[in-house]
Amino acid sequence: MTLDDYLREAEVAHGHLCAGQVLGVRLAMLGLEKLGIEDPRGKDRKRLVTFVEIDRCATDAISLVTGCRLGKRALKFRDWGKMAATFVDLGIKDVSTGKAIRIAAKESSKALARAMHPEIESKNQQQMLAYREMPEDDLFTKQWVSVKLPADEFPGYKGERIVCAECGEGVNFHREVLRDGRVLCRACAGERYYEIL
Ligand SMILES: [Zn+2]
Ligand SMILES: [Zn+2]
Repeated sequence: MTLDDYLREAEVAHGHLCAGQVLGVRLAMLGLEKLGIEDPRGKDRKRLVTFVEIDRCATDAISLVTGCRLGKRALKFRDWGKMAATFVDLGIKDVSTGKAIRIAAKESSKALARAMHPEIESKNQQQMLAYREMPEDDLFTKQWVSVKLPADEFPGYKGERIVCAECGEGVNFHREVLRDGRVLCRACAGERYYEIL
């Protein structure tokens, strides 16, 4: 699959073509290339877990290219507001510390896009074109990293399900909290993001 192939798919999946799609597709393609993963949505589909650090346009493109989805537990979201993603190769011997590469968009790429195409008024159009043309090293930084991925974070993990002592709702993947000797869900333990009306 080429950049253009992915962008066509990304446009359909995301709903529009934007600078974020170009950035996300290139970021993900670079991650796969560095890990030597050729067919992430086919024969290599169980080899990859991707951490994304932002929930913006590019995130959809990263998910599309890698085939890593939230519902498969292969896409992990860290809400850091950063245009970056880490690609973890599970297809190696010591899977507890996977070989991984973290790729971040350079802050300078926006200014460079302006310098490359001052004739284009729309920021989105300007960046869309410039992010296609820009050399990899102008667009991204890369770091080899090690990611500790506990067994219960793996996509295929099957664990026991406990029931919250307070609300009675079931909790998977060891997300329960022990509080004063009681096993609680995170909401009942005080991490509720909603208020009951
Ligand atoms: Zn978009
Ligand atoms: Zn509860």
